[in-house]
Amino acid sequence: MKKNQTIIEEDLFYQLYKTPPEKPKSNTPEEIKEYIKKLTEFLKFHQYLYYIKNQPIISDKTFDDKLKELEELEKQYPEFALPDSPTHLVGSDLEQEFPKFQHKIPVLSLTNTYTIKEVLDWAKKTGAESFIVEWKVDGATLVLYYEDGILKHGVTRGTGNIGDDVTPNAKTIRSIPLNLKEKINLIVRGEAYMTYTDFERFNEEFGSIYANPRNLTSGSLKHKKSKEVAKRPLRWVAFDGYLENKEFKYDSEVLKYLEYLGLPVFEDNVVCNINQLETTIEKFKDKEKNLDIPVDGLVIKVNDRKLREKLGYTANSPRWAVAFKFEPDLARTRIIDIETFVGRTGRITPRAKLEPVKLAGTTVSYATLHNEDYIKKLGIRIGAEVLISKRGDIIPAVEEVIDPGDGPEYKFPDKCPSCNTKLVKDKDSVDWFCPNPECDERLIQSLIFFCGRKQMDIDGLGEKTIRTLFNKGFIRYIEDIYELPKYKNELVKLENFGEKSVQIILNGIEKSKQKEFRIVLPSLGLKEIGFNVTDLLIQNGYNSIDKIIELVNQKDAKQKLLSIKGIGEEIADAIITQFKDPKILERINKLKQYGLQFEQKEIKIDSNVKPIFKDQVWCVTGTLTHFKPREKALEEVIKRGGKTSSTVTSKTTHLLVGENPGSKLEKAKKLNIKIVTEEEFIKLLNES
Ligand SMILES: [Zn+2]
Repeated sequence: MKKNQTIIEEDLFYQLYKTPPEKPKSNTPEEIKEYIKKLTEFLKFHQYLYYIKNQPIISDKTFDDKLKELEELEKQYPEFALPDSPTHLVGSDLEQEFPKFQHKIPVLSLTNTYTIKEVLDWAKKTGAESFIVEWKVDGATLVLYYEDGILKHGVTRGTGNIGDDVTPNAKTIRSIPLNLKEKINLIVRGEAYMTYTDFERFNEEFGSIYANPRNLTSGSLKHKKSKEVAKRPLRWVAFDGYLENKEFKYDSEVLKYLEYLGLPVFEDNVVCNINQLETTIEKFKDKEKNLDIPVDGLVIKVNDRKLREKLGYTANSPRWAVAFKFEPDLARTRIIDIETFVGRTGRITPRAKLEPVKLAGTTVSYATLHNEDYIKKLGIRIGAEVLISKRGDIIPAVEEVIDPGDGPEYKFPDKCPSCNTKLVKDKDSVDWFCPNPECDERLIQSLIFFCGRKQMDIDGLGEKTIRTLFNKGFIRYIEDIYELPKYKNELVKLENFGEKSVQIILNGIEKSKQKEFRIVLPSLGLKEIGFNVTDLLIQNGYNSIDKIIELVNQKDAKQKLLSIKGIGEEIADAIITQFKDPKILERINKLKQYGLQFEQKEIKIDSNVKPIFKDQVWCVTGTLTHFKPREKALEEVIKRGGKTSSTVTSKTTHLLVGENPGSKLEKAKKLNIKIVTEEEFIKLLNES
């Protein structure tokens, strides 16, 4: 297929089809014909935005509704139906830039169901005894082809028959093994995705025009530079495996086998019978609220592989599986104002002030607008009526403009809202920046970031307090925080402060000196140096600031950095320039003198305890009561001479089991690995 079956005149179509075409006033054949043409163009344009651009500007529901309408019309007036109508062409995400790959087994879409009754009706019809229920991850399908246990191809869904071969990109995803445990031929279908936390962090660090993790995921898979893709926190999970010369009775066994091969499989998958389906679905729904993984429903499959073959397929989908879609939470409201903010990197982000509206249990007053481009493309202006959505914990986003209203087009500011400096824009960037490093708001934001919960987590130094201390001249740069104890007497006298709250702040500051290097470094807010990059540096032996500075001053620094999987050109350059910058080095030096950790402590064998775990390899599953996070338990193993592993493998000798253990437990039992309860573990520790 060509780049797109229609020629999309992007700019024109943005003007014409931001909102659905108006229905004809009378129903003369000419008008119906014209309306069908417009509706076809409208749907194809949005299919293009969804699949190719990864930047949909209408909600899935509006798309589905309009598609249904077109279907009805085409039934009534078959003579007006267009040959390239989206009602009989599957949406495709193929792009010219990638080699094409013919799927060995077509990737079909699933029939959607929206009610439990529909699911039960389907389940009854299959006659199956057991079903497997899984999350329907809201990401991008990625099929992996292994030959002799080696990853040969990573292919997108494409048309379902032909996909884009994005192997170099797939290889950058850390949860995808390049080699399997056994030398077999395997086709494994799965979903690339991104957690909400990673998505937020990515947006914080790099800025993004993507409205949600799904769009960023599919945009990343289709990125032309795999070095760029490596920067993005993509994950992948397996759903379906097709093996040559290997027979399995149940699908649940296949999934276990995939896991054994080293492929990631969700621990949440449930096998149940028809009578348990309803409660199982309810349990999943409950769990979804706290899930960090974006899902838009469940997939329910017949577990018996033989029965699957018997049930077979309809033209577009298997009869042995359905999707159960969760209704997305949408709310309709009006934009009262558009405000802009400057962040610590200088990036300007706009947000919409909304007429407060209830959405997913909370009242929403603001929605993110990402950047100027996004505002333009969606046609957002003050007074517009919009549909907003909220998935997971992320800030609500505008899904769609229902009615743009008659206000003037929004003009993006050209000066910084804080310091009035003229804004600048990088060449390929969609973002505007305040270039002034002394911009008050940028400095305040750096301080807020540094003290934040995910960073140094300094008690008492929330946004309000930071602003007060900044305005009163007590703090301006990060290092000033550690001078605060000197001003205790002045601080106590400030309005709303008092002895008690000042003590909380000072204790918080003191406590932050214990924060590990892996937290300290990303908290400094340096360009490109977030948690991921910091971990990569540490894992590759650059586990102290001194070692990093020594590295960047070597002639082959860049080469050495680029040899680390996950570090690309831009990151390498950013590391080298910043750790040579005298200003940054001075800041680091000061912080060092105040006692912050600039070396990652290694857990070493503790000579005060007996090496009782020597020659043993420990793994942990479930929640522990005395060790939080549970990795703390594994530290005890290392201190006593043992080794640890994150998954159960044939090398694992012991599995420490907490509450609600995952599939590791079953696997360990199969491999005859010693199972140890938390109680028994503590007893062992005490004896040593
Ligand atoms: Zn500024």
